[in-house]
Amino acid sequence: MAGDRTKEMQDVLKRQRAAHEADRPEPMDMRKDRVKRAIAILKENADALCSAMNADFGNRSPSQSMLTDIAGTINFGKYCLKHAEKWARPDKRHLQFPLGLLGAKAEVRYEPKGVIGILSPWNFPLNLSFGPLMQVFAAGNRAMIKPSEFTERTSGLSAELVDRYFAPEECAVFAGGPQVAAAFSELPFDHLVFTGSTATGRKVMEAAARNLVPVTLELGGKSPVIMGESADFAKAGERVALGKMLNAGQICLAPDYLYVPEAKADEAVHGIWQATAAMYPTLLDNDDYASVVTDRHFDRLQDMVKDARDKGAEVIEINPGDEDFSSTNARKMPLTILRNVTDDMQAMQEEIFGPVLPVKTYGQIDEAIDYVNRRDRPLGLYYFGSDDGEERRVLERTISGGVTVNDVVFHVSMEDLPFGGVGPSGMGSYHGIEGFREFSHARSVYSQAKIDVAKLAGLKPPYGEATRKALRGLMK
Ligand code: NAD
Repeated sequence: MAGDRTKEMQDVLKRQRAAHEADRPEPMDMRKDRVKRAIAILKENADALCSAMNADFGNRSPSQSMLTDIAGTINFGKYCLKHAEKWARPDKRHLQFPLGLLGAKAEVRYEPKGVIGILSPWNFPLNLSFGPLMQVFAAGNRAMIKPSEFTERTSGLSAELVDRYFAPEECAVFAGGPQVAAAFSELPFDHLVFTGSTATGRKVMEAAARNLVPVTLELGGKSPVIMGESADFAKAGERVALGKMLNAGQICLAPDYLYVPEAKADEAVHGIWQATAAMYPTLLDNDDYASVVTDRHFDRLQDMVKDARDKGAEVIEINPGDEDFSSTNARKMPLTILRNVTDDMQAMQEEIFGPVLPVKTYGQIDEAIDYVNRRDRPLGLYYFGSDDGEERRVLERTISGGVTVNDVVFHVSMEDLPFGGVGPSGMGSYHGIEGFREFSHARSVYSQAKIDVAKLAGLKPPYGEATRKALRGLMK
C-alpha cells in the first residue's frame, strides 16, 4: 500500500519542484494568493470541518474547534498576509572597512526553499497542518501535507478541499497511516516540518538525515507549572483548569504537572477543583468537553491512573455532577488529580496528554527548579506568582521551549512570538519572523567593488609589504 503512495508522492514532489523552479522567484502576489486560498478553505468550509472533527473525536465542541482550529488558523494566515512583504525584504549587512566606501555591498536574501513537507498530528488537526502551511506559502514555497490517521474524516476532507482549491503543483494532501507517514518522511524535501511525539520525531529526523533534509520538529514533553508562595491560588487554579480541560488535556502545551509549596497544596488543588466545576458542572452530556480521541488513548490514561493508585498516589476525580463514567463508551474522562506522586509512576515518566494532573510539593523553590532541570527540556514552562525575584530565578535557571507567566499555554497564541521546543521538545520554530526565516533559505549575497580589493588587501601573490601590513592590522 505504502509502495503505491510512495510513487505518487515522489511524482508530486517532482512536479512541485519543477513548477517552483519555473516560477522563481515566486512573486509576492502569488504567495499571498495561496495564503488567501488556504484561508478560504477554512472560512468557506468551517461547518463541515468542525463536524468532521466532532465525529473524529467522538465529541468535540464545534465552538472549541472554531476557536482553536478554524478562526485561530485564519488569523494566523491574516498575520502572514500583513507581514510577508516586510519579512521578505533583504537585510543589508555591514562590511569590513573600507569595503563599503569602495562600493562593495552585502545583503542576506530570504529565498524560498522549494517544496516543504508538513507532517501533522491529530490533536489540532487543522491548526497544525494549515498553520505551518500559511507561513510555508508566505515564504514562497509549495507544500505536501501528511495529516494524522487518527482524525480520518478531517484528513479526508482536507485532502478533498486542498484538491479543489489548489493545483497539485502548489499543495497536495496525502492521507494515510504510519506506513505512508514513514514513506513521506523519507522524501527528499527541501525542508520538513513535523509536529508530533518525541518518539516519532526521532524517526522522522533519522529518515530526513538520509537526504540531509533540514527539519523543524515541534514535539511534546512534560510542561511543568511552578506555583510560588505569592501565587493567587484561586486565579491560578482557574487558569490551569482552563488550559488543562481544553481539548481534554490533549494539547502539546497542556500543563503536565504542578509543583506547589507544601503548605499551599490544598489551596492549589481546591482552586483547580472550583474552577473545573464552574466551567464544567457536568461532563458526560456536556458538548463543551472533548472526548479522548480513541479507545487506545483512553485506556492508556486509565492505566496511568491505576498505576499511580497502585503505587500509593491519592487519586481525586473532579466529578461535580457525580456522574457514572463506568457505564459509557463516550471516552469522556473527568479531570483526575494525583497527589503524593513518585517518579516511578507512569504519570511522572511520560507526557500525560489527557485530563490527569499530578501535583508535587516543594519546601524551597529550588527543589522545583532542580527537578525540572534533571528531566528532558520541556516545551512550555509556567510560573505563577507576584515575586519578581523568584520569577527571574525560575526563568533564568531553567530551559524550556517557551514560557507563560501567570497563565498557561498563552505564549503559543502570540503570533509574533516564535513557537518551538528545545532538545527533546523540538528544534526550530514557526510563528513570528522566525517562522518565515525557518522556511526560507538565508542566502548571503556579496557584490564586489570595482577596484581590485584582493590586491589592496594583500591577498594576491607575490606576497609583499601589502600582505605584511594587512597581517599586522589583523593580528593587532
Ligand atoms: P505522533 O507522533 O504519533 O504522530 C504524528 C504524525 O506522525 C502523524 O501524522 C503520524 O501518521 C506520523 N507518523 C507515525 N509514525 C511515523 C513514522 N514512523 N515516521 C514518520 N511519521 C510517522 O503524534 P500524535 O499522537 O498524533 O500527537 C501527539 C503528540 O504530538 C504529543 O506528544 C504532543 O505533545 C505532540 N504535539 C506537539 C505539538 C507542538 O506544536 N510542539 C503540537 C501538537 C502535538
